[in-house]
Amino acid sequence: PPVYEQRYCFVKNLVNRHGLRKIADLGFGDATLLWMLKYHRCVQYLVGVDIAARPFEWGGGRLSPGVGGYIVPRELDLTITLYRGSAVQKDSRLCGFDLITCIELIEHLDSEDLAKFPEVVFGYFSPGMVVISTPNSEFNPLFPASTFRDPDHRFEWNRTQFQTWALDVAKLYNYSVEFTGVGDPPAGAEHVGYCTQIGVFQKNIAKATESSISEPEEHVPEEHIYEVVYTTSY
Ligand code: SAM
Repeated sequence: PPVYEQRYCFVKNLVNRHGLRKIADLGFGDATLLWMLKYHRCVQYLVGVDIAARPFEWGGGRLSPGVGGYIVPRELDLTITLYRGSAVQKDSRLCGFDLITCIELIEHLDSEDLAKFPEVVFGYFSPGMVVISTPNSEFNPLFPASTFRDPDHRFEWNRTQFQTWALDVAKLYNYSVEFTGVGDPPAGAEHVGYCTQIGVFQKNIAKATESSISEPEEHVPEEHIYEVVYTTSY
């Protein structure tokens, strides 16, 4: 399957394996990942945030109930909400999720936004898990034109650059991180690594001393910045 599909499947499998219920996708694009996740019986709450989300594209779209061939009714309720907003803006409705995914998002952030990103996503949203995927630049020489993969990319990192950034972020916000990827290199080019590099972050269980310092989740003051562009429940 194409690499983008492998990225979505990676998330899907993670959701299944951990039985995750509340998931937010930052930079949801055309909502394919959210659409795939809506079929999971464990999922109860799906949220998408995209800076370019447009209101009318989603009315009656493929996220609505009934579309996509339901045979067996769900046992659990499912709510889907799409917001227009930036991944570097704080909105309290994104706090307390099991998983936040950022699939091919960070390389679209300029240096100012990239600097704000960890504090918002890890510090403020503070989900149980975070998945971040981004191109692995070591793979690029295998492409015909060896520049950035997309003209909108602000950077493409090699494995050391991504892992250094991710380990710093994990340490600062008390997460652990593991590295993997999707898109196998062709035979003979194994040394370049995966086409897409992925970091899977898990929040460390707060130690007694730390939990007394950090504010409990329910004390985060309401702060609604994002604009709702679509919502449905079934
Ligand atoms: N995650 C989708 C996927 O894998 O198919 C889309 C990836 S697309 C390469 C990057 C997306 O991030 C675009 O939809 C873009 O509008 C969105 N985006 C860019 N900057 C953003 C920001 N600061 N906050 C939220 N979304 C952003």
